Amino acid sequence: MTLYEPAYIKTYNSGLLNQKIEKANEALHNCKLCPRECGVDRHISKKGVCRTGFRARVVTYLPHFGEELSLRGTKGSGTIFFAFCSLLCNFCRNYHITHETAGKEVSDNELAEMMIFLQNQGCHNINFVTPSHVVPQILAALKIAIAKGLKIPLVYDTSSYDSIAALKLLEDVVDIYMPDFKFWNPETAKLTCNAENYPEVARKTIIEMHRQVGDLVINEAGLAERGLLIRHLVLPKGLADTAIIMKFIANEISPQSYVDIMPQYTPCGESFKIPGLAVPIQKKEFKAAIKDAEEAGITRLEEQKADFLL
Ligand code: SF4
Repeated sequence: MTLYEPAYIKTYNSGLLNQKIEKANEALHNCKLCPRECGVDRHISKKGVCRTGFRARVVTYLPHFGEELSLRGTKGSGTIFFAFCSLLCNFCRNYHITHETAGKEVSDNELAEMMIFLQNQGCHNINFVTPSHVVPQILAALKIAIAKGLKIPLVYDTSSYDSIAALKLLEDVVDIYMPDFKFWNPETAKLTCNAENYPEVARKTIIEMHRQVGDLVINEAGLAERGLLIRHLVLPKGLADTAIIMKFIANEISPQSYVDIMPQYTPCGESFKIPGLAVPIQKKEFKAAIKDAEEAGITRLEEQKADFLL
């Protein structure tokens, strides 16, 4: 039996992690870490759309038992929730975290301590939630955490609104990419998050994530070790264009893709401003989404309970 080693250990031992940290730190001077391309100097705490300066801001960190089965296992996924976001969907379930000022700024050392704390709690992985705007801070903290004994997989839980350059910095660092493919239609993306280019960006970034880590590998204990786990939140009135997204995943990513079709959409934030988004989804809409995935040829689907839907 070969012992599991996360990707970042080799990257750390070879010195490549230092180079990535330097590059990422430099990128903060003219921040184009995500497709918003604000061009602000975050070293002097100038802030762009993500309202995050030089330090990452953390809202909470805890063993999370609501994540996918292969991430939560029996001891939970070690989630670290970052404040703010660069995509800013106006229906966000975590609206108070992503849109409003929450949490506290943390040093690289404090972020590293959170990772070690979660590992010591028995968590099966470190799960960075909404991390696209804090890639440099994650890399710098990771180096400290590795020196302190970090050895569990890293999960990058993203909206998919990342830049390819930022993802390249994460190559051989992140073990499990968990992108959300939200919607296909640029008009929906414009209305919900003022990011008409979201669908195009998501297609490219998910292809890049898959190139780096491949399909999801789940070990004998049922835990995810490496690969791609795609999420898709079903929206009311077909607004997510689920069928087209599922065909894209099966045909352009891999028919072996592991997909979690999520039923928990509920109107939050400013969803009432968007026609169709002011209501929860119905059970028949969720069932149709599962059928869309199956018809597209996707066989690895997270089991979801949708009894709470009408
Ligand atoms: S990470 Fe933040 S500052 Fe940088 S480009 Fe994206 S939104 Fe703008």
